[in-house]
Amino acid sequence: MSSASLPADFLRALSEGFPADFLTQDAEELKEYGRDWTRVYAPAPSAVALPRTTDEVARLLALCHQHAVAVVPSGGRTGLAGGAVAAKGEVVLSLQRMARLGPVDLLGNTVRVQAGAVTEAVHRHCAEHGLTWPVDFASKGSSTVGGNIATNAGGVKVIRYGLTRNWVLGLQVVTADGRVLELNGALEKNNTGLDLRQLFIGSEGTLGVITEATLKLTQLPGKQDVFLFAVPDVASVLRLFRDARQQTAFLISAYEFFTDRCLSRVQRHRKLRSPFEAPSGCYVLLEAEPRDAAAVEAWLGSLFERGLVTDGTQAQGAAQAAELWALREGISESLSATGLPHKNDISLPVAGLEAFCAELEAVFQSRYPGWEICLFGHIGDGNLHVNVMKPDALDKAEFLAHTKQADPTMFELVRKHAGSISAEHGIGLLKKDYLGYSRSEEELALLRALKRTLDPRGVLNPGKILDA
Ligand code: ZN
Repeated sequence: MSSASLPADFLRALSEGFPADFLTQDAEELKEYGRDWTRVYAPAPSAVALPRTTDEVARLLALCHQHAVAVVPSGGRTGLAGGAVAAKGEVVLSLQRMARLGPVDLLGNTVRVQAGAVTEAVHRHCAEHGLTWPVDFASKGSSTVGGNIATNAGGVKVIRYGLTRNWVLGLQVVTADGRVLELNGALEKNNTGLDLRQLFIGSEGTLGVITEATLKLTQLPGKQDVFLFAVPDVASVLRLFRDARQQTAFLISAYEFFTDRCLSRVQRHRKLRSPFEAPSGCYVLLEAEPRDAAAVEAWLGSLFERGLVTDGTQAQGAAQAAELWALREGISESLSATGLPHKNDISLPVAGLEAFCAELEAVFQSRYPGWEICLFGHIGDGNLHVNVMKPDALDKAEFLAHTKQADPTMFELVRKHAGSISAEHGIGLLKKDYLGYSRSEEELALLRALKRTLDPRGVLNPGKILDA
């Protein structure tokens, strides 16, 4: 469907019943709103709708349903699986004008916000009261609450707080045909049968459009210690993790790792310096809330004695902590800025990581002989980001064809070790063909049946996650 083929009576209804600036078909804006951070698909929406109220969202969806016009719900478009891509003449429904933050409820530790609220704005709003919504990742300056919930986003604090799903009390959702649902309100406990709210969390905009959410908050953590350790290899990363996890001297709030390949790309792109004199195979960023400073000190000393790390540094103050974090959080952006990465986001049961990583090495050697692989991720959650970099000698099309062919070998290994082909990035368009590696035929049939029930005309983010 191109813009010219949007039904004339649909466009007339929009121009008559909505504000003058509700819809744009400006070429630059179509391009911007039609893509996410995947940058693999050419954006081609036919229009962008910018509602200010839930009522406008509901009336727009009712019209789309009536005229069978496809809609792509759109938050901060920071996704990496193509879930917010509009490449087939869809109408993009941007929630960006719906960013109101309600008052923080200091008794219930909740806040109700509109879906377009930016993650970092929510953090600042709640921090004034000593509270936080502990959903945190590198894209927090652009990602939105609605997008985070629709994708059940993960990030760097999952090891302590769990996924976004755990921090949503209530949802306001508009259905495909324009009905407004209020699900669970601000209730912590509600045992009245199936929890419909969970249907929409992680549905990537395919079952309904989230317009407001009541978020569950927690106290801001106390002072955090940030450490960077050098270790020789992935097995050592896991050995150190096992040791750190058994400590009672601190509470882990992030356990991140990256390889020397990642570090050199970050150094090249961000012009940052490594705190270590000699390079090492792998690095671990540990953020922890200390409970017993003397015991933390003793533990640190023992790491060298016991050969668990080859080097290490502790941030002295917030500025140094930010510098260490920049080495980790700058990776994704630096890989894209200095080359063409083929990204994969996988997860394994933590206990199975060591065996998986050993076998993964063999997959790399057979499928990508001599290629640069940049491995990093939230390894404390079993989440690895595997980035295969395009060799200079290959052209882009050849490279993409090769990685597409090689992916199933890794997904087979993920299945063998009972992992998931998408840990936190979702399925979108990018992983759709591979969903069967992580979900059974029976599950897929149920998911299709749900889609047909909630979106019988197939207008909500069609083609994402699965084909109904
Ligand atoms: Zn991540």
